[in-house]
Amino acid sequence: MNQKWTRTTYNPEETDGFARSLGTLLKANDVLTLEGDLGTGKTTFTKGLARAIGVTKTVNSPTFTIMKEYKGRLALYHMDAYRIEDDMEDLGLDEYFEGDGVTVVEWPKVIGDQLPGERLDIHIEYGKELDSRVFRFHAHGQRYEKLCEELFQL
Ligand code: ADP
Ligand code: MG
Repeated sequence: MNQKWTRTTYNPEETDGFARSLGTLLKANDVLTLEGDLGTGKTTFTKGLARAIGVTKTVNSPTFTIMKEYKGRLALYHMDAYRIEDDMEDLGLDEYFEGDGVTVVEWPKVIGDQLPGERLDIHIEYGKELDSRVFRFHAHGQRYEKLCEELFQL
């Protein structure tokens, strides 16, 4: 199953609010991926999500590291696969995916076959209106279908 949900936001605050709503529904072991061109709001979204899971430190783009870990009610493992070389093999990422926190992966395509099969893929695109962003959610697995159903009822 791979159902699709869509939400458009019209300013950064709305993206933040949307991410926070999702954050309140997250549990340990959840894995999300964020794909979208530069400036579409991957980091803005991750910051809102981080707040909702109780992370108080400022979340920045993990540009020069592959992974940053933040403590909160749940841990946040913020991964940026952009810097990973194609020929890098098993990175031992399962430790995070199966760990006691929420994993957010930016640029997931780079590590494609190392991603868990059950996860929530989020695609962000620029919308037609100024400052609008279109979020498309693809749920892989029952856990994430339920999560989307709940989120899109809020
Ligand atoms: P990315 O991590 O995808 O490169 P960022 O979150 O760092 O993107 O940057 C998004 C930029 O776009 C910010 O400067 C933000 O203020 C701006 N912006 C404008 N409208 C929106 C919106 N609806 N949602 C998110 N960000 C927006
Ligand atoms: Mg970013």
